[in-house]
Amino acid sequence: MPPPERTVRQRIIELLIGTRLSSYQLAQMVGIAERLIEGHLPHVVKTLARDRTQRFVLEPAACSDCGFVSHMPERGDHSPPVWNRAGQKMIRPSGQTRVK
Ligand SMILES: [Zn+2]
Repeated sequence: MPPPERTVRQRIIELLIGTRLSSYQLAQMVGIAERLIEGHLPHVVKTLARDRTQRFVLEPAACSDCGFVSHMPERGDHSPPVWNRAGQKMIRPSGQTRVK
């Protein structure tokens, strides 16, 4: 039987492939505390760094209501902002994301 930590990391990777999730959502789905998810992520990134077919994408926290990263009520954005708990994480096949 593999050590439990490895199982959690495998599960995080499986959940993130093709899906944008925040640490909070991951915590709910894996069933562990959000801070533990954050603790596993550097290892997930390290694991993926060895795999050239996958890429870990971290997007900044954005208002989950309007999607703005920089929310400005003075610009006319609704108030208060609905911040995601943390940036959204996602694993994508590296070949699919050519940034020009
Ligand atoms: Zn907003």
